Amino acid sequence: MTAKIKTLMLCICAAAAISSCSGSAPEARKTIFAMNTVMSFKAYGKAAPDALNTAAEEINRLDKMLSRTGTNGELCELNQYGRKELSEETADLIRQAVSISDRTEGAFDITIAPVMDAWGFFNQNYRVPSDDELSAALSHVGTDGIRINGNEAELLPGVQIDLGGIAKGYAADKAEDILRRSGVSSAIISLGGNISVIGSKPDGSDWTVAIKSPFKENEYIGKLSVSDCSVVTSGGYERYFEQDGKVYHHIIDPATGYPAESGLASATVVCESGTLADALSTTLFVMGREKAEEFYNKYGGFEYILAEENGEITVSPGIEDKFRRE
Ligand code: AMP
Ligand code: MG
Repeated sequence: MTAKIKTLMLCICAAAAISSCSGSAPEARKTIFAMNTVMSFKAYGKAAPDALNTAAEEINRLDKMLSRTGTNGELCELNQYGRKELSEETADLIRQAVSISDRTEGAFDITIAPVMDAWGFFNQNYRVPSDDELSAALSHVGTDGIRINGNEAELLPGVQIDLGGIAKGYAADKAEDILRRSGVSSAIISLGGNISVIGSKPDGSDWTVAIKSPFKENEYIGKLSVSDCSVVTSGGYERYFEQDGKVYHHIIDPATGYPAESGLASATVVCESGTLADALSTTLFVMGREKAEEFYNKYGGFEYILAEENGEITVSPGIEDKFRRE
């Protein structure tokens, strides 16, 4: 079996932030590597340098707490022992993920972990699993396998949690909180495909967030003008491997156990909460355009940009005037 394996985790951001600062507030920048991705921060004002250091520490703390790897992180231990008294924070995030799962009828599901493992995405041992293996893994998928009572969590046998579809968005929200509480009123945080902006640029104009093209490296499908919001993109191009000429990416349709083939090449969600934007960009990617539109009409509270495999770009009504196609 020859499998051509590629990972594109390092140094690739699903969206790039572009700003031209003409204000006089001092600018501070910071770049770290956490949650398997390059993260960069830019903030303005006197408080910015210290605030960025604190935000970076916070992200490293969350990386340990919410990662499936490592030794004594909370999620790690819950997965290992099947039962754990969690911090209120982790318990809340899991509850939030479960409630998004309910609303998305399982398109977003943090119990997808055994299926991720079957495809080798956990340890980069990529392979196409047999049907039997996939059905065994799928039998442990479903949020009814998570029992959570206060902060005490229990997983039914075989159930494992993967917060990869939501953790970066949560980390972006926490970093944003720190910057705001420190008095920063203009900043842009880029955690891989997760961008959060605080306020506007120092000159008062909107931030410009370029949405990466899922079709060509270093190209963009368009630019979005935004202030005070999160812009999160999910795409199969972020992490994938090839086997026998077929591409298998890391966003799984829990209904089939296979990488989602919804006709979308990328899904971008724009909303106030980075956590929600992260979970929903993964969700919309699984759903495909039509279901995504139905979901948007039913729930609202967010905007989207969908890039279909055929090159078509659909932008939701609430941001049409903010998005300039390339
Ligand atoms: P994102 O890049 O935010 O779209 O998240 C993709 C990551 O979320 C994957 O690498 C997995 O860790 C996890 N994941 C994959 N499929 C799903 C799914 N259907 N629901 C929730 N998380 C998923
Ligand atoms: Mg996500």
